[in-house]
This record gives sequence, structure tokens and C-alpha cells, in this order.
Amino acid sequence: MIPPNVESEVRLSALVVCLFLGLASFACSKQKPAETTQPVVSSTLVPTSLDGKALADLGPAPSFNAARTMQYVKEIAGFGPRPIGSENHKKLEDYIHAHLKGDTVEEDAFTADTPEGKFPVRNIIAKFPGTREGIIVIAGHYDTNYPLRNTGYVGANDGGSSTAILLEFANQLRGAKRDGYSIWLVWTDGEEAVKEWTATDSLYGTRHLAEKWQQDGTLKKIKAFLLEDMIGDADLNIEQDSNSTAWLQSVVYQAATILGYQSHFFGRTIPIEDDHLPFVQRGVPCVDLIDLNYGYNNVFHHTPQDTVDKLSPKSLEIVGTVTLETIRLLEKIK
Ligand SMILES: [Zn+2]
Repeated sequence: MIPPNVESEVRLSALVVCLFLGLASFACSKQKPAETTQPVVSSTLVPTSLDGKALADLGPAPSFNAARTMQYVKEIAGFGPRPIGSENHKKLEDYIHAHLKGDTVEEDAFTADTPEGKFPVRNIIAKFPGTREGIIVIAGHYDTNYPLRNTGYVGANDGGSSTAILLEFANQLRGAKRDGYSIWLVWTDGEEAVKEWTATDSLYGTRHLAEKWQQDGTLKKIKAFLLEDMIGDADLNIEQDSNSTAWLQSVVYQAATILGYQSHFFGRTIPIEDDHLPFVQRGVPCVDLIDLNYGYNNVFHHTPQDTVDKLSPKSLEIVGTVTLETIRLLEKIK
């Protein structure tokens, strides 16, 4: 959990960076490019509670249908811009629901008051029950950038990849008897700022959901909150986000190492503001898996160049399998 003063510092540093670079307002959402520290996972992050026997008992590596996930990305990007309040956004809601037929699905729907007016916001939640007490949440946003709505921006990576990977997780979980924690998949909405990224103009869906789950007691049951955002870049470099929970990052890193994918993880450390923050602030263990170096110097982020040709099924597979392996490790640890 980050103390409030850290959060305000983060925002302040973001503001300074924005002013300094003279960037358009939308360019700064999510990223606070503070100092880059060299790798990586410090020794204090290495999990100690997994012994050799537990690791040997893991069984075969998880499988993940990356080709199908990539196909979802193409179909989702094919809808065009999908900002909150748009027709395309509604079409995507229907598309997600169509892929979850027969699953246990709930919505957290409300009206968000934004600097651009009132908008309907809907978080979509699919629940896959396990035999064990506790919930692991995998979340990712499905709305696309609002200020770029008239530029042809399709958000293949930013919005598309997260929506698609969650649909594939649903395919993996559907019909399989889970011997572990319940898994809840959350397609978050209103992640993007409508005007300029601030604490109140961003994260509309997750701020609402975290508050709701705090009030109804759900938050206490969440063992881990795994957020995925912009995970399709063919040149995949998942950041080590300093706002995420260190011990949970170490489990992710161990999962990546088991699968031989660790070189794609945690090469630089930066603080990231994303959908996990409302949960971090309430004490939920969170990790944000995000690649904020999308094209050299992040040049494709929040531009009409965020298109399907920049992505690769291999990256989706890396994040998909590491996520599933992380869940298996979490179920071994506690
Ligand atoms: Zn974005």
C-alpha cells in the first residue's frame, strides 16, 4: 500500500514531466517516467516460501491459446475507437458478453461524472469458483482513449490486448473444476482520462468497484489483484511498477523464470498509475503487468499508430502463461 504523500509526489512529478516535455495532455496518463533504476528484482523480492518440492509438484506448464487471443485483438480493434459513451463501446460490451455465454457474469454499472459530462460506465465481472477460500482477480480495461476518439485510434494494445487476454482466460477457466482460489475476471471500464489524467479524471471504473467491494466485504477476500495492460507489444518489456506489491511481483518473476520468460520482466522500475491503484490504496496485494515502452520511447502509446501490426501472439502467450503460472504458485505458497 502506498502512503498518500507518495501518491501526491507521483502526481507532482508527472506534472513536472508533462510541463517539461510540453506533451499533449493525454500523453501522460498512466506513466510517470521517474528515474530508471537498473534491474531488477532485488534479493529481498525473492520468495522464500516455495521449496524445491513445491516447484517439482507444479506439473506441466500452463497452456494458452495465443492465436485465438490475437484473433480477439483483431476483432476488437476492428470495432474502431471504443471510448466510454460511444456506440462502439456498446458493441464491445455486447461482444464480451457474447463470449461469456453460460458463465457467471455480473456488471458493476453506474454513471460517471467527468469533465466532459456524464457517461455510463460498466465493469464486467466473470466469476469462476474454486474450492478454496479466497479470490484472485485478473483485470484489464476495455475502454479506449477518449481524447483520441476522432483520430481513427483503435487502441489495439491499449484496451484491445487486455480485453482479449481476459477473454482467453475465460476460455481456459470455463468448465474446468478449480481446486484452488476462485478466479474473477474483470473487464474494467473508464480507465482512460476524458480530458487530462488526474486522480479524479481517470480510473472511473476501478475507483467505483474498489469502493463497492470495500463496502460489501469482497476486498478482504482478494488474495491477489493481477492487472494486465498493454501486454501485446511484439517487443515485450513488462515494467517493474513501484506502486505494485513487492512480494506479489516476486511471485510473478518466479513464474516467469520457471517458464524461461524472465528477460521480458522488470528490466526497469517506474511508478505506474493504472487500474490497480484504488485497490493498492485499500491494502489489496496488486501487480500491474504493463509494457510502457511501446515502440521506441513509447512512441505508439496513445497515438493512432497503436495498431494490430505492432503486436505479436508470442507476447500474449508470455503474459498469458506467466499469469497462469503465477496463480499456480500463489496456490502453493499460502
Ligand atoms: Zn491508455
